[in-house]
Amino acid sequence: MGRPNVGKSTLFNRLTGSRRSIVGDEPGITRDRIYGEVAWNGRSARLVDTGGVIPDEEALIPAQIFVQARFALDEAAAVIMVVDGRTELAAPDLDLARLLQKTGKPLFLAVNKIDVETLDAAAENFRQLGLKSLTAISAEHGHNIGDLLDEVFAALPPQVEESVEVEPENEEEAEALHRTHGEYQQDEVNVAIIGRPNVGKSTLLNTLTGTSRAIVSPIAGTTRDAVDELIEYQGHKLRIVDTAGIRRKGKTNLMAEKLSVVMARRHLEAADVALLLIDATEGVTASDATIGGYAHESGRSVVIVVNKWDAVTTARVDGKPPADRAIYEEQVRRALKYLNYAPVLFISAMEGRNLNRVLDTVVRVAAERRKRVTTGQMNRFLEKVDFQRATVPMAKRVRIFYMTQAAVAPPTFVLFTNRDIKLHFSFERFLENQIRESFGFEGSPIWFKIKARN
Ligand code: GDP
Ligand code: GDP
Repeated sequence: MGRPNVGKSTLFNRLTGSRRSIVGDEPGITRDRIYGEVAWNGRSARLVDTGGVIPDEEALIPAQIFVQARFALDEAAAVIMVVDGRTELAAPDLDLARLLQKTGKPLFLAVNKIDVETLDAAAENFRQLGLKSLTAISAEHGHNIGDLLDEVFAALPPQVEESVEVEPENEEEAEALHRTHGEYQQDEVNVAIIGRPNVGKSTLLNTLTGTSRAIVSPIAGTTRDAVDELIEYQGHKLRIVDTAGIRRKGKTNLMAEKLSVVMARRHLEAADVALLLIDATEGVTASDATIGGYAHESGRSVVIVVNKWDAVTTARVDGKPPADRAIYEEQVRRALKYLNYAPVLFISAMEGRNLNRVLDTVVRVAAERRKRVTTGQMNRFLEKVDFQRATVPMAKRVRIFYMTQAAVAPPTFVLFTNRDIKLHFSFERFLENQIRESFGFEGSPIWFKIKARN
């Protein structure tokens, strides 16, 4: 947190730099990085760059910075307040510090732009803010970043391993795990409708739920807190996580776009299946790709829904010929390559066209993501696969002794290999394709973990 230009984004880049936001070697993902991972001494934390979200002109008053960054503050375990050590301590710094103190969260002051030691005295000035922790840093040159991280990480709760609940150490354990897990039925499927402003999220939500709601939150530019809607479809309970969208009221488009990315991230957390809405009249934009990238990394199942199909299939005012579905799908797939497992649907939320197809697909992919392959099935599968066909450099080849599905939702496979190296990108792709050919998992990403056996 901090006023504009103090160096928040620079610090964000410095802290997350080496771990480019998640999918490192997936081609085609470009994004404004709002969230990133910071690793320190074997632990990691998620970092939010409020500098990437709050436009300068709207964040000149601390109270406004504070309100705009609420999305980040609410979910934060600790806060780093950044000030510019080359400017005089001013009233707005004091105001912001007070507001941040009120949250009761561990608060760390980073006095930035202290590039040379002669400036240390300037940094000391900021003790007047009365914050317990002060570190003089240079985000640009990487000075004292370790000291800052030591302090911050000491205040964070211990870590819980996320995806793989239990990791088997060997084949017997893997089998035992299967027997105890069994299949379990999911009561409800959580569905999130995500996408840029104006793609038709509210319209789709309204038609699916049969309600009509226009919700604007008291905080300009955002809607009020999500309220879920439960719908029953052919005996299945689908809970639509409300993503009613960002109103552009009084906001710049850029601001709304960025907030839509933030909201998508947040709604993905509660979802099993994400409906990624694309506006057919605009095609896949950079923001769509950003949101799609986050959906991919989140491990949720994804259905790509091209909305407003009605608007491009009839003769158009601009004289363009009606869109061709096959060509359009190819373009969407090319732009969202990493979501190659996601079905693509064409709908008109406004005219209520193809909505049953959407619900059918949600039900289907929700079941696929919970599917379990037994180790026996997996072994038979491995015997059949011709790994020579994978185009992998000799030095990157690994031998798989066996493989087991350690978790569902998303399906996660543990590979027991002869070498402790990261899977080569094209080998992983090859293996993933082979698994999909044999077992499906439509709509869901597939995750791999490596266990080297010595
Ligand atoms: P934000 O608005 O708080 O996100 O600030 P930025 O990260 O965009 O940085 C604002 C300006 O301060 C940029 O011109 C940066 O290059 C500069 N800056 C950031 N960190 C440092 C630093 O450690 N030393 C110096 N001298 N300049 C810095
Ligand atoms: P949101 O910001 O993503 O929630 O988008 P809205 O649901 O508010 O829709 C934005 C605009 O697109 C509105 O003017 C809708 O009437 C229009 N719209 C939504 N769905 C469709 C559709 O299927 N076809 C057409 N032609 N327009 C649509």
